[in-house]
Amino acid sequence: MDESWEKIRSKLKSKLGHDIYKNWIEVLSFVKVKNNVAHFHVPSSFIANWIDRNYRDQIIESFINEEIYIENLLFEHKTNETLSIQNESSNGQTRDINLSNVKNKKENKNIELPSSPLDKRFTFDRFVVGKPNELAHAAAKRVAESGPVTFNPLFLYGGVGLGKTHLMHAIAWQIKKINPRSRMLYLSAEQFMYRFVQALRFKDMYGFKEIFRSVDILMVDDVQFIAGKESTQDEFFHTFNALVEQGKQLVISGDRAPGEIDGLEERIKSRLAWGLVVDLHPTDYELRLGILQSKVEIQTKLHPGITVNKGILEFLAHRISSNVRVLEGSLTRLFAYASLVGRSIDIDMAQECLADILRSSERKVTIEEIIRKVADHYNLRMSDMISARRSRSISRPRQLAMFLAKNLTSKSLPEIGRRFGGRDHTTVIHAVKKIEELKNKDLHIAEEVEILRRMLEA
Ligand code: ADP
Ligand code: MG
Repeated sequence: MDESWEKIRSKLKSKLGHDIYKNWIEVLSFVKVKNNVAHFHVPSSFIANWIDRNYRDQIIESFINEEIYIENLLFEHKTNETLSIQNESSNGQTRDINLSNVKNKKENKNIELPSSPLDKRFTFDRFVVGKPNELAHAAAKRVAESGPVTFNPLFLYGGVGLGKTHLMHAIAWQIKKINPRSRMLYLSAEQFMYRFVQALRFKDMYGFKEIFRSVDILMVDDVQFIAGKESTQDEFFHTFNALVEQGKQLVISGDRAPGEIDGLEERIKSRLAWGLVVDLHPTDYELRLGILQSKVEIQTKLHPGITVNKGILEFLAHRISSNVRVLEGSLTRLFAYASLVGRSIDIDMAQECLADILRSSERKVTIEEIIRKVADHYNLRMSDMISARRSRSISRPRQLAMFLAKNLTSKSLPEIGRRFGGRDHTTVIHAVKKIEELKNKDLHIAEEVEILRRMLEA
């Protein structure tokens, strides 16, 4: 069993990423599985609640993928180490004492900053500028020149993979180059929260404030992460104000405009909108082509001798419009493949090697379509599919539709449950598992699933 947990852990690591894994999964110590419940020891109830609220589905799913069928998680912690969620907001009392201490700047200068590592590739040199991102790029450059602070904060927003993190790292590199001694702190909002929680746990709010108020420039990536997290927002707000008052630069990023981030306090929204708010628009064809050309240069250095046939970049720029990360990934994959088989990159190779990406950027299947198609196929009404009726003739197609929703869309289990008449996510897990089981046993069902999948993806 411990072995399985090791496997599950390492899968969670690749699924959730290194940071989340380090902060929230590594602290779990697995105890046992009993009556379909996985038991863990955790350091505190706060951590337990956090994991339960944010990573529960993924953990349950990973167990199921290892064929350990569980329905729930149970966290136990030693009471003397308990930190309840209520304690999280007790920081009000400590704030006054700490602020007065932070004034001693000389000492501050020696504190090491817990900056997150910067990606070497994310520099201004390597950022391709086009219409959709020129404003964001210009603003980032201005901040990086570290003249007098002209707008504070700089708020960058845009969808996934459009270059927010790249620009923030570029600012950081540039500032380091111009002034290696300037105190620059870059971290994700999740890291900010993690440090804050740790400070509460180890009763070191003084140290926390000292660090965050001693910087010359603070960059917080993906601020939407702290939406709905009240105490963290509160602390963020105070940090923000303290730095702005001292004339220090802030750079913040988010996945949408400040006013549109649900669960973010009004006062924070309005503070974020104080400075310059710029968005990274979805890429257009020209920008995508430009990015591809620049990335080909880099890839060619890594794989000397591999050539790209005429028209390939245009084809990719045309067909893959989701985001830059995917575009970049496609090229990496093509080069790796080409150097394996020792051929130049041509259109056949691109189509074969990138079939999944090309397909997924072609069409997005929605849960509604799945429900409709499955209902049609079994001569049911759409309302049957989301009704509470449990007869086999309805519940089996419903389970099948849930299975398809899980496999063909990127919706979470709770979301899928909601769309099937407000069902619980455990029902969805059960359905997925059931169909998987049946598919292995029953050739007829396996075929039905395949047919429906093809119809939906066509
Ligand atoms: P975000 O933080 O907005 O989700 P990232 O900054 O992580 O996106 O960008 C995703 C990937 O795409 C990175 O590898 C980045 O280098 C690349 N990228 C995005 N925009 C550009 C651009 N304009 N020029 C070059 N590379 C880009
Ligand atoms: Mg990012």
